[in-house]
Amino acid sequence: MSELRILVTGGAGFLGSHLCDRLVETGADVLCLDNFFTGSKANIRHLLDQKNFEIIRHDLVEPIFLEVDQIYNLASPASPVHYQYNPVKTVKTNVMGTINMLGLAKRVKARILQASTSEVYGDPQQHPQEETYWGHVNPIGPRSCYDEGKRVAETLMMDYHRQNKVDIRIARIFNTYGPRMAVSDGRVVSNFIVQALGDNPITIYGDGSQTRSFCYVSDMVEGLVRMMNCDDLTGPVNIGNPREFSIKQLAELVLEITQPKSEIVYKPLPEDDPIQRCPDITLAKERLKWEPVVALQEGLEKVIEYFREVLA
Ligand code: NAD
Ligand code: UDP
Repeated sequence: MSELRILVTGGAGFLGSHLCDRLVETGADVLCLDNFFTGSKANIRHLLDQKNFEIIRHDLVEPIFLEVDQIYNLASPASPVHYQYNPVKTVKTNVMGTINMLGLAKRVKARILQASTSEVYGDPQQHPQEETYWGHVNPIGPRSCYDEGKRVAETLMMDYHRQNKVDIRIARIFNTYGPRMAVSDGRVVSNFIVQALGDNPITIYGDGSQTRSFCYVSDMVEGLVRMMNCDDLTGPVNIGNPREFSIKQLAELVLEITQPKSEIVYKPLPEDDPIQRCPDITLAKERLKWEPVVALQEGLEKVIEYFREVLA
């Protein structure tokens, strides 16, 4: 029997490239699709000489005809800086891109996993967030292109499932960090580390009391692969680390590990920035037998090592 053919959209990005690594290791035939908006060839260059890895430069907004068994749909900018750069394109990628992937899944009877996000909860009024919570999202703000784009993507997944029996998985990913985040990514972990390693000021937005829960990339990949291969679980399922930190605590931890000459500077909190975020992962624990194993300090040390090399 031939190997499983797996499509990873957004496969040259931060998360997608780690997922490609993992899938190539299993012997599956891996097809990485990317338009290189925020992804880079450097993230997947080491895979190019593997016989079970291929790359297609393609924009997911355009339809594509492929023959695959599984689809991980990760194509979408994820950093607020990137998704707000061209918000209309962000909506198109999440809506038209997801329709294209669902159409493909329907035609070839592939199983499809959507990389959804904790942003579907908006600025949550329930804490920690359970999958049953409908969220608190501003439909007309600067984050809406991403939040609402991802919410429509979930709607499309459920409608193709109910209407066309497409075999779907919805993973709600919470803040994830690790090596291969771009230096210019703009999200908090890479920003703080790049600033600290350059002895530049650490930019805390607001007073730093807002919280996030940071998941190391290897834990995330494990969760996504388990969900894809779990029968009979459409989701949504929260995948994230339930240890919650304030942004100030994160800054202090980065400073403690890197010992820079940097100071903390405070900048205005961006509009609609969620105040508290932490996943309830009871469902993932029960159904996927999954929970994160990498603590923030250990994960940060690895990413700091990575950025030291990149910036050297
Ligand atoms: P990333 O920006 O590093 O990767 C996104 C990838 O998608 C890039 O390689 C980019 O070039 C590609 N892409 C964007 N638009 C495309 C298009 N129209 N056609 C083809 N490719 C396109 O971000 P990431 O952190 O790796 O995120 C991957 C996925 O996981 C995204 O869907 C994101 O919304 C989701 N997610 C990530 C996090 C996180 O904390 N990392 C949290 C929640 C959800
Ligand atoms: N943040 C910050 N300084 C930065 C970048 C981000 O204080 O240089 C804050 C941001 O305002 C938010 C949190 O860190 O409260 C996480 O931001 P990020 O962009 O990483 O992700 P998201 O807001 O999408 O969770």
